[in-house]
Amino acid sequence: MAGKKDYVNSAVSSNREQIEHHVREILKLIGEDVEREGLLETPARVTRMYEEIFAGYEVDPREVLGVTFDEQHEELVIVRDIVYYSQCEHHMAPFFGKAHIGYIPSGKIAGLSKLARLVEAVTRRLQVQERITSQIANIMDEVLQPHGVMVVVEGEHLCMCARGVKKPGSKTVTSAVRGDFRTSAALRSEFLSLLKQ
Ligand SMILES: [Zn+2]
Repeated sequence: MAGKKDYVNSAVSSNREQIEHHVREILKLIGEDVEREGLLETPARVTRMYEEIFAGYEVDPREVLGVTFDEQHEELVIVRDIVYYSQCEHHMAPFFGKAHIGYIPSGKIAGLSKLARLVEAVTRRLQVQERITSQIANIMDEVLQPHGVMVVVEGEHLCMCARGVKKPGSKTVTSAVRGDFRTSAALRSEFLSLLKQ
């Protein structure tokens, strides 16, 4: 996963024992034998995993962009194929894929690795893909005040492929546009054609 891994969800850390207890209870309620060897450490492992996959709550996504100033560059900047892992808030099941961000700076730019940090801060939570997409666009828009921003997010949802309609391999694609991307079809297709290369 891109970015630092060193921050964890502090609520999970301070409620560790209770979470482990409840995971154990759920295991019992689905008919498992919590004393068998393979499951002995599972409540603790699940809790440690929660620390990591819900670490996004620890950061304000607006603060990770680390804005710098560059008056020169006012052309399209694209960072594509930012891999993310998130958890569907309807099923607490993983979904994952790639995010692509394009923007046209108007004086303020963000470090390219900071865009990956933004994606991480927004996705390591209970989420829905639509909101991830619009939050990234809104935060880029608010913090960098660019001429325009476009975000495309692709996702594969385990709640769709492993249960319910069971459609393995189907991808959900969401997009959000702000500023010049809203009004210019040419700009949108430039962005999309650069994603395909
Ligand atoms: Zn779901």
